[in-house]
Amino acid sequence: MTADWAKWAGRICAVVVAAIIFTIDCIVDFDVSISILYIGTLVAVGVRGSDNEIIRTAAVCATLSCISWYIVHRDAPDIASSLRLGFALVAIGVTAALLVSRKHLAAARRELEESRGELQNFTDSVPQLLWRFSVDKVDFFNRRYTELTGHDREEAIAKQNWIEWYHPEDRTAFAEKMEHSLLTGEDLRATFRMLHADGSYRWMSLVGRPIISKDGTIEKWYGGTSDVHEEVTARQALERLQRELEESQAELINFMDSIPQILWRATPEAYVDFYNRRYSEVIGRNADETIERQDWLEDFHPDDRGPYLEKVRSSFAAGEELNAKIRLMQASGDYRWTSLIGRPYRDKSGKLVRYYGATTDIHDEVTAREELQRTRAALEESQAEVEFFANSVPYILWRSNGAGEVQFFNKRWTDITGMAREDALKDQRYLETVHPDDLPGLTVAIVTAIETNGVSDAEVRVRQADGTYRWMRLYDGPVGLTADGEIQRFGGATDIQQVVDIRRQLQELNETLEQRVVERTADLIKTEARYAGLFDVSNMTFAEMDFKATEPLLDELRKRGVTDLRAYFSEHPDEFAQTLSLIRTTRVNEALAHLMGYESVAELVANPPAQNADDGPAVLLRQLEMYYNGINHIDGRTVLVGKGGIEIPVYYTVNRLAEGLHLSSHMNLTEQERIAEMREAAQEELARANRIATVGAFSASIAHELNQPIASMLMDAQTGLRYLQRGEPDLEAAERILQRLTRTVQRVSNIVQNTRDAIQSGRRETARIDLREMVEETAELMERELRRSEVSFGMRGMEAPPLVTGDPVQLQQVLINLMTNATEAMREVDGHRSITVTIVALDDEIAVTVEDSGPGIPEENLERLFQPFFTTKAEGVGMGLQICRTAIEGMGGLLTARNLEKGGAAFTFTLPTAVTAEAA
Ligand code: ADP
Repeated sequence: MTADWAKWAGRICAVVVAAIIFTIDCIVDFDVSISILYIGTLVAVGVRGSDNEIIRTAAVCATLSCISWYIVHRDAPDIASSLRLGFALVAIGVTAALLVSRKHLAAARRELEESRGELQNFTDSVPQLLWRFSVDKVDFFNRRYTELTGHDREEAIAKQNWIEWYHPEDRTAFAEKMEHSLLTGEDLRATFRMLHADGSYRWMSLVGRPIISKDGTIEKWYGGTSDVHEEVTARQALERLQRELEESQAELINFMDSIPQILWRATPEAYVDFYNRRYSEVIGRNADETIERQDWLEDFHPDDRGPYLEKVRSSFAAGEELNAKIRLMQASGDYRWTSLIGRPYRDKSGKLVRYYGATTDIHDEVTAREELQRTRAALEESQAEVEFFANSVPYILWRSNGAGEVQFFNKRWTDITGMAREDALKDQRYLETVHPDDLPGLTVAIVTAIETNGVSDAEVRVRQADGTYRWMRLYDGPVGLTADGEIQRFGGATDIQQVVDIRRQLQELNETLEQRVVERTADLIKTEARYAGLFDVSNMTFAEMDFKATEPLLDELRKRGVTDLRAYFSEHPDEFAQTLSLIRTTRVNEALAHLMGYESVAELVANPPAQNADDGPAVLLRQLEMYYNGINHIDGRTVLVGKGGIEIPVYYTVNRLAEGLHLSSHMNLTEQERIAEMREAAQEELARANRIATVGAFSASIAHELNQPIASMLMDAQTGLRYLQRGEPDLEAAERILQRLTRTVQRVSNIVQNTRDAIQSGRRETARIDLREMVEETAELMERELRRSEVSFGMRGMEAPPLVTGDPVQLQQVLINLMTNATEAMREVDGHRSITVTIVALDDEIAVTVEDSGPGIPEENLERLFQPFFTTKAEGVGMGLQICRTAIEGMGGLLTARNLEKGGAAFTFTLPTAVTAEAA
């Protein structure tokens, strides 16, 4: 509206101005051309008017100029005014032309602006990211840039940081490509991942093209980047799928090759076009060749080819499954039974496309089945044979099943029992023939045998055809399995009536004999006991020797007519020696062993008898003569040679007992002889020496025993004094110390008394002792020494051990000795020092072990520890352990030493329990 109005205003203004100029120009004749002022009109029209309006206005103005000139100069036209008119006309024309061209220019500019805006819209509306690259940087991105990356495109252009949104892994490749294109001017093509505003990377495809200037240089690059994420990922997925497909195909082939069957594929026309690897392995032919030649029938046994082809034809024609059992040639040239299966495969439309098949080796099953059939036939044959055989033996035979039901009896059954075989089997009525008294026993035997799958063996009375009962032995057991795997038992019965009769007679005889033997044995035991008692307990010395083995030799000599045995043996010393070697000492009593200085009876028994006396062979010869000449008793004097060669003059007697045994006894003549000798020697001197020895032993012993208690008393006394001398005397502690002192004094007195008693008379005091109590009391007595030496004390083992019998004073001495030794041994030990006393009960003894954590005892000293005066200590006496051992042995026990595996020494003594000791 405004525009129209302005247009019209312009036009009116132009007309008015033109009218005015025209009027003036018609009236006045100036020396200048007024027409030139029409230019103003033109300008007024030119502001808004179109090209045509300007041209028309210019034409009107020119016409008006000419009209005015005519009016004014019609009468006297002059050159000057004509020239002025011409000038004005030219000015109007030029101005109009200028105005028109300016209009054109403005229109062209507008169009340009419009098309630029359009281009912008266009570039912004495409889904691609568009860009332009000039010289060395990107100078344009369309709006898509911001939409995709979420970053301002102007900023990207300013900072040139667009590559930062590319995936780090793709940047280098992209930069290289770009460089290459910039150098060569080739199109730039790249695929890369770009970070999107939502934080995800998406695959992008970029294409850039150069714009080449006329002089051949690259002016700019224009390009577009489009989202190809879906395509790329789809392609990747496809590639993956393809890879997987290839793998699974390979796997399928592997599977097919690894199974033990031959797999094949054939067209419905029986054209085989595939075999797995197994084919070549089994048949030994190349599968491809077989496929090429289609001569697979050659692989079959000639006899199977025809029937097989027939089967293939009929199955394939009907589109049915193919099943065949054929013999297939093996690489080795043998044929093996094989089961062949071919399954038809149809496509979706139901058309038969292929046959897929497999062959399986069933040779072993087939041959096994054949073997089984052969065995079955043989079995049936042998069963018939057995039946025949069973009927021909003179015993009852039967067969039963796993449940013990008899299923077969041979004919003999009816012959003996008079019962038909069928009747006997029916409801197992055969049991009716068994004597009612024997039936329970038989049932138990059968049931047990069946449960354990073992044999049953029973002796029962069976009713015979004549109604009498006869003893029979029924024996049966599992023999094997039936063809169906059931247990079979076979059994037989033998008539043992005669055996039973004889057995009964024997039994009676036996019983009578046994009775006699019992009576005789009782007699013998009584006699033996008397003899043994006399033998073992007696203070008299006895030896029993066995000459039995010499008797055949002597009998032989007598047969040969030898009358003088002594003369004969002196001529034949070898035979004499051989005879002597046959004599054995069977028994000696302890009195004799002790007399001869042996510690045990066994030691003496082990000696060759001839060595036991200095004239042993002569004494034995006399004993041989007893048998030879029928003499029952001899006596005489001899000198016994004991352990270590000690000699004991004795008077001996020998009595011949039954069974070649000789019993000798001896009377020790030493004392008598010594007394006689002493009488001759200086009796006084001897007595004195004796006394010195006794006193010496007494002092050595007593010195050792008193060492510890006296030291303990001294310490106690000093400690007691200290308690009393304090500013505030500790009376309670002093009293405790004094009490202990009193106990120690008492002990000293006991030791002195005891040692004297022991030395003087071997007298010993015994009492029942509670070992645990004693150990605890001893530990308390030694408490101070233990504490001073930093030794911890512990007890293990029984809470209430059985009581033992012994001398309490000596026993305590032993414990004190062992614990003192242990404490002293640990003196040099750094760190943990401990003494542990363990009390355990053995069969009829109690064992007490004193263990320490000291250095232990050197191996070479273990044996010598108990010898008198053996010591490794500077101030040691070396009597302690010897006294301990003597004391323990005196109480009926043993004292031993050993080293512990974990280190340290252990001393163990055993003592018989009071019950054992008192029973003995
Ligand atoms: P003494 O103690 O006077 O040496 P003993 O007869 O009591 O005499 O001991 C003899 C030796 O046995 C000691 O000198 C010592 O070498 C060794 N002995 C005894 N008990 C132990 C022990 N618990 N550990 C190591 N050695 C020991």
